[in-house]
Amino acid sequence: MRNRNRQSQPKQQKEQSLPITPIEVMPVPGPEDPLIVRHDRPYIYHNFTNSLCPTCLKVIQAKVILQNNKVYMLKTCPEHGAMRTLLSSDAAYYLSQSQYNKPGTLPRHFQTRVEKGCPLDCGLCTDHEQHTCLALVEITEACNLRCPTCFADSDVGRFAPLDEVERMLDTVVENEGYADVVQFSGGEPTIHPQLFEILEMARKKRIKAMMINTNGVRIARDEEFAHQRPVWQERYPGAEELRVAVMGCVVNGPGESKHADIGISLPGTFEEPKAPVYVDGRLQLTLKGDGIVTEFLQILESYVERRFGAGVPTSR
Ligand code: SF4
Ligand code: SF4
Ligand SMILES: [Zn+2]
Repeated sequence: MRNRNRQSQPKQQKEQSLPITPIEVMPVPGPEDPLIVRHDRPYIYHNFTNSLCPTCLKVIQAKVILQNNKVYMLKTCPEHGAMRTLLSSDAAYYLSQSQYNKPGTLPRHFQTRVEKGCPLDCGLCTDHEQHTCLALVEITEACNLRCPTCFADSDVGRFAPLDEVERMLDTVVENEGYADVVQFSGGEPTIHPQLFEILEMARKKRIKAMMINTNGVRIARDEEFAHQRPVWQERYPGAEELRVAVMGCVVNGPGESKHADIGISLPGTFEEPKAPVYVDGRLQLTLKGDGIVTEFLQILESYVERRFGAGVPTSR
């Protein structure tokens, strides 16, 4: 026992002789110390996207930011410098819209492949996320006004010939199967010299509704134009009085449909996929399957032809 104690003695002495290095402790800065002051950016970063330079149309990256309850894009073109573009004047509203996002509805047909990336593959290309709810067909670049805020830069310009407009309409119809809405725009579409021919041509295509995006100047000033009747009104006089009911429920819809000249009751979400059609107040037939809309429009067209097509309206 005594021997073991003697052997451990020198080691203990060695540990105690290690030199002690004093540690330098940095003083904690107070809140007023300039070294501790940091600054926030004047905005909240929200998202990142691709955009275009408005001058040279080059594709450039863009930050989407929130600032003073507005939404902006910050982007820089190597040639034309940094810029800030207002996306929304109400950031709270802009953000709240995301709760209504839903899966995109595919077009029935795409026109182009993805090669250079959006928006250089426009066609629609196969990357496009949504079908066309409302197709804008620009039939002229010319306008009878010179608004300083014009996003289309409209001034003088060409009028698209009929065959070109027809190609645009056929593309929309091919993509959609049955186009929901076509809006004729420009420039100012009412100064197109063949506007009524265009409308007549479009009327014969699979388009559910048409709109004209106008500044109203020609309608207000040109009485002859304002009273010009479309060809269909000449051919089907009285058809504008036709009462058509399109109801969204097979339970309650028939009642409404019976009181219209022609009516259809479409099935609701959990209802059987069948749609009774009423003509002159009586059940004519019940449509089923994917072709309900197409078949109903055919029934409607033949009804208009039969009732108004002779050039003299008849009562039911
Ligand atoms: S079709 Fe749509 S996804 Fe394709 S390039 Fe045009 S905007 Fe982009
Ligand atoms: S009326 Fe419309 S298209 Fe014409 S200049 Fe004004 S904004 Fe542009
Ligand atoms: Zn540029």
